Amino acid sequence: MTDFASLVHAVPDFPKPGIVFRDITPLLANAGAFARCIDALADPWLGQGVQAVCGIESRGFIFGAALAQKLKAGFVPLRKPGKLPPPVTGVDYELEYGSDRLEARAGALRPGERTLIVDDVLATGGTLAAARALVVELGAELAGAAVVIELDALDGRARWDRVTPLHSLLHY
Ligand code: 5GP
Repeated sequence: MTDFASLVHAVPDFPKPGIVFRDITPLLANAGAFARCIDALADPWLGQGVQAVCGIESRGFIFGAALAQKLKAGFVPLRKPGKLPPPVTGVDYELEYGSDRLEARAGALRPGERTLIVDDVLATGGTLAAARALVVELGAELAGAAVVIELDALDGRARWDRVTPLHSLLHY
């Protein structure tokens, strides 16, 4: 049985020199490891009344959709701008250089719907913070967030609050 952590490959100098990219595609390609990863991701959320899972484009779709099935919840994609047909609700957020935007279908979440945000990697935390703002803007109740990998040195967790659960499976 392959430990799923060993199937996350560290790729030096991608996409830029000095960055170690965590490649999750070998994990996805191994049926048993992918299943164990989704089981572990779901574990803290079983019985927590999660009604909707929001996956962040694009790798958050892969883990989020599988997790939604496991939790018997609906799946809502949070997308890069211009991908979803109108009407959409969106939030802009700052990157190290420039800005970006996340959008969801307007009304994609019901008022008060207990919602879990999912992504593959928590790095600086900007993307997760934007997803959170979008879920709140949509009127849902935020249950928390689940990521496969947390890059501890970048301290993305500091951009999350101390009370809302944020669970990560692997730390680098
Ligand atoms: P943040 O906004 O926290 O700085 O960046 C998180 C986003 O960047 C996530 O959506 C994630 O998919 C992507 N990301 C950043 N670093 C990595 C990495 O090393 N590996 C992968 N797979 N995605 C990354």
